[in-house]
This record gives sequence, C-alpha cells and structure tokens, in this order.
Amino acid sequence: MPKKIFKIGVLTSGGDAPGMNAAIRSVVRTCAHYSIECVGIYRGYEGLIEGDFKAMEARSVSNIINHGGTILKSARSKEFRTIAGRQIAFEKMQEAEIDALVVIGGDGSFTGALIFNQEFGIPVIGIPGTIDNDIYGTDYTLGYDTALNTVVEVIDKIRDTASSHNRLFIVEVMGRDAGFIALNAGVGAGAEEILIPEEDLGLDRMLESLKRSKRSGKSSSIVVVSEGEKSGKSVFELAKFVEENLPEYETRVSVLGHMQRGGSPSCFDRVLASRMGVKAVELLLDGKSNLMVGIKNNKIETTELSKAIKGTHHIDKELIRVSDIMGV
Ligand code: ATP
Repeated sequence: MPKKIFKIGVLTSGGDAPGMNAAIRSVVRTCAHYSIECVGIYRGYEGLIEGDFKAMEARSVSNIINHGGTILKSARSKEFRTIAGRQIAFEKMQEAEIDALVVIGGDGSFTGALIFNQEFGIPVIGIPGTIDNDIYGTDYTLGYDTALNTVVEVIDKIRDTASSHNRLFIVEVMGRDAGFIALNAGVGAGAEEILIPEEDLGLDRMLESLKRSKRSGKSSSIVVVSEGEKSGKSVFELAKFVEENLPEYETRVSVLGHMQRGGSPSCFDRVLASRMGVKAVELLLDGKSNLMVGIKNNKIETTELSKAIKGTHHIDKELIRVSDIMGV
C-alpha cells in the first residue's frame, strides 16, 4: 500500500519556461481542492537541499497565470547530483513532512527526480517545462507554444526591415538538440530555408534555395537556424559563407537568445499547464509515482519517467516537406 499523501512539494528546475507559473498555480489549487497541503520549494533542488520552503494555499498563486518565468525561481544544483546532497534533501523533506514531489522541468530534472525516488522512496511526478519541446512522451512541453509565437513575431519584424533593404537575414533560434522551434516558427514565419539538427542537408542546398528565391523575384530572404544545426558553422560563419558564394546577397545575422524564454504564456500553454498540474496531483493521490504527465492527441496521458528521459521526441517530417513546397 503506498503511503497516504498529506503534503505535496512543488519545484521548478533547469531552464525556465513560460507556463511554469500556471503549472505551479494548478498544483497548488488542486491540492487545495483535495484539502491537502502544498509547499513551494524555491530554486529547484538547490532549495530542496537548503529547506527553502514556503507553505502555499489557493490565494498564494493569485495573478501568476499570466506571468512568464517562475515565482519559485529555478536553478541547476550540482549538490543534488551527489548522494550526500540528496540525503540532505530527503532529511529536509522529512523535517517539513513533505510526502511527495511535483517536479516541473526538463529531462535532467526528471533524471534527478527518478534517482531520488529510487534512493529514498519519495513519490515523484514530472511536468515537462522547456521551450525546446524535446521530451519524449508528450506532443507539447510547457513554454514551447509561447516561444514559437515569440519567435514568429520577431521574424515578422525582421522581415519588414529585410524587405526594405533587399537583405538576407540569418536568424538563430534556440534548440540545441531539436529543431522544433526552428522548423515550426520557420514555416509559420515563411522562412526561405530552415536548418535544424535533425537534418543535415548540406550548405549547397541552402545556396540553391537562395538562388532560386532571388530568381523568383523575392525582395527578402529569411533563413532560420537552430542552435544545434549540423553544418559545423556558426550563424556568423554561415552569413560569410553566403556572401562569399552569393555576392548578390547583403547578409545580416540576428541571434534571438533568451528573449525566447520570456514573456506572458500563450493561452495554449496556460491551459496545458492547468491540465498537467491537476493530473500530477491526482496521480500522487492515487498512489502513483515515477511518471511524467504529457499530452498526446489532446489527451492528458502519462509516460514512465525512465522512458521520458531516454526516448526521443521526433520532429514531424511532413512539416519539412511543407516547408520545401512553400519555398517554391
Ligand atoms: P533544460 O531542458 O532546461 O536543460 P533540465 O531539467 O534538463 O532542463 P538540467 O540542468 O539538465 O536541466 O537538470 C536540472 C537539475 O536536475 C540539475 O541541476 C541537477 O540538480 C538535477 N539533475 C540532473 N541530472 C541529474 C542526475 N543524473 N542526478 C541527480 N540530479 C540530476
């Protein structure tokens, strides 16, 4: 028989993402709904080790659903990677009588949660919060939709200046291992070419496509590049490469950087966070552990944390085809 849950701790860990606050709010209010206690843990596992806790009730999370970032702050904790650090975290939880954890973060945070469960038997449930959308077991992670909208809005603005000067812009977006943001924002913003880590089509193809675009009379060109794309060149080297091979192009670079992580979450992310938070608490109350809450075909579903950590979320190859056709 799993131990009855009276008090749940919630933390945000790893890179922050819009929608994390909406998820915290959902966890806190679901606990209130079921008349159990909820504790906010500050700065992820760092705060777990330090016992940096705050009791939270329904009104503690008023007016946060619309804010980016995380009111609980996030951190990366080296100490939690050690057994000694996790032992202290366990003792702090015992002292505060926290029975279970909801961890909002990426696969690193889930790995830590799983190890913690295996060592100390604390029930853990993960909610995927990362703008990269690179987590197996869910069609969408929290923050991804907001980041996409941010990127599309910015590229639209870049397009205005690009077409006024007949320039080519190379725009770097986040995505070290996965091209979700580049591919979807690229299609959404009408990019001429999209370079992603999943597909190394070579730079000749990019040159071909840019030549074609010039011939067809386009007044501006946008190339969206994912951080982790595989040509081996930085965006600045890519710009140089294009200018050397296609002197007719005047090229500029824009690295979007951390703005992609910020901003008020989209309605989609707020609703998703609300649904995931409810499910996470209900799973714990049902005696479940070591699961990640995800969404598949618009249904809230769960995946073993061990699989979520190891698996790969693949991009939609059909979208690459759509992008190619749009570049005609
Ligand atoms: P993002 O996708 O934004 O990088 P993440 O959750 O993957 O988010 P990480 O920095 O990989 O971010 O992990 C967050 C924290 O989880 C780490 O700082 C560490 O405290 C904990 N963690 C990660 N891996 C392990 C591990 N193998 N053992 C124990 N704790 C871990």
